Amino acid sequence: MEFVTVMNVPFLNTNQRSFVLLLQERIEKKKKTFVITANPEIVMRANKNRELMQHIQLATFVVADGIGIVKAAKILKQPLPERVTGYDTMIELLKIANNNSYKIFLLGAKQTTLKKAIDKINMEYPNIKIVGSQDGYFNWEENDISERIMQLKPDITFVALGSPKQENWIASNFSYFEHGIFIGVGGSFDVISGTVKRAPVLFQKLNLEWLYRLMKQPSRWKRMLVLPQFAIKIFKQKLKGKTT
Ligand code: UDP
Repeated sequence: MEFVTVMNVPFLNTNQRSFVLLLQERIEKKKKTFVITANPEIVMRANKNRELMQHIQLATFVVADGIGIVKAAKILKQPLPERVTGYDTMIELLKIANNNSYKIFLLGAKQTTLKKAIDKINMEYPNIKIVGSQDGYFNWEENDISERIMQLKPDITFVALGSPKQENWIASNFSYFEHGIFIGVGGSFDVISGTVKRAPVLFQKLNLEWLYRLMKQPSRWKRMLVLPQFAIKIFKQKLKGKTT
């Protein structure tokens, strides 16, 4: 497997389709897998936060969820083919789970959103077994979530707590589980439930999904301030010629 290193984060050099096939193979072989879908914000945070960087090292795969990462890889002359988003990966995994009657566990989002997402999945993917779920506003110090997952043994656990909470949760509990895919999917339950609309296809094609999300949720603007700093760091990495 090939990796492209962007600011010390090793991104798997893959496209959406191949990545989903790889995950399917790992489910079949019962290989335990921790997936981080990382955008520039996460990369910047990981370079300041040692704990998050350790989680990135622990992850089985880090994929490029954000046009900023794809552009950075191009600037570094180690191109990545396309974005591999948490949302698209989740939808493709749901299709595979439906075809194979896999067991899934849903962790994250507000209670009402989670309930709507479960109803939607039950309706659209009737063969999937949703063996358990937990909203994302639980007591971090005291809960039985990992025990439940250990007993239920889902093939896929979708963790939608936003970053870095979802990475923290998976990293802290990963060692308890025998097998299964554990993937951080950010706001995907909000989209599946219909609570938040995904950007129209045109925005996605023009790589302007971030702009759409900003227009819909203006409070996200603060999160965007990190992007110019990310660009500066990438050009510095390019000058140093530090790619792998
Ligand atoms: N969330 C949660 N618990 C928390 C904080 C957030 O379950 O303590 C959920 C939130 O309800 C939303 C998702 O995590 O469904 C984060 O969405 P966001 O769009 O911020 O994710 P990102 O941009 O990081 O992918």
